[in-house]
Amino acid sequence: MLFNDGRAGFLTTIIGPMFSEKSGELIKRCKQAQQYQGKKVMVYKPDIDVRFSVSEVVSRIGLSIPAHMLPQDLSVEFVRQRIYVDTAQCDIVAFDEAQFFSAELVDVVQHLIDEGKMVIVAGLNLDYQNKPFGHINNILLFSDEVIVKNAYCACCGRPAMYTQRLLNGVPYVEEQIDNILVGDKESYEPRCRLCYVRPKKNK
Ligand SMILES: [Zn+2]
Repeated sequence: MLFNDGRAGFLTTIIGPMFSEKSGELIKRCKQAQQYQGKKVMVYKPDIDVRFSVSEVVSRIGLSIPAHMLPQDLSVEFVRQRIYVDTAQCDIVAFDEAQFFSAELVDVVQHLIDEGKMVIVAGLNLDYQNKPFGHINNILLFSDEVIVKNAYCACCGRPAMYTQRLLNGVPYVEEQIDNILVGDKESYEPRCRLCYVRPKKNK
């Protein structure tokens, strides 16, 4: 449940592995507040994520909401100012796939909360090597509310908190080659604690 009186900001962070409907949770919360509270919403996503749509956030079970794309690098003053200007009249500002944004996302989120806005940040907290992904975990630390989503393990159906990287259909366990392969079912699957295969080098 989101609450915002336009005075004290409120930060919700939604984390979990791939296929856990993080985007769906973000969309549902935004749409519910739009429809029943009359809130004005702005949704952002990184321009690296063009898997389903360039003008919407789309969840895997079919929910969608209009979204604007931002460059991953939020260090540029122009970008940050654009966010602040574009959201001046908004009650809710949401960032999907937030693990792909640069460290300045933390400052942007703090600024928006200070402005009294409801902020929703959704993203992967762990990469496929079970390491912190992007700067989500720094945002977790000052969240008012944290939603932990699980997926269903692709092997056994248990609750899954890990994202397993696949290569030719089997777990990829070599040292990480790139962190930002924006893939889908052909490259990743959710796995539970029992079925997740740890990469060889997991410092
Ligand atoms: Zn399993």
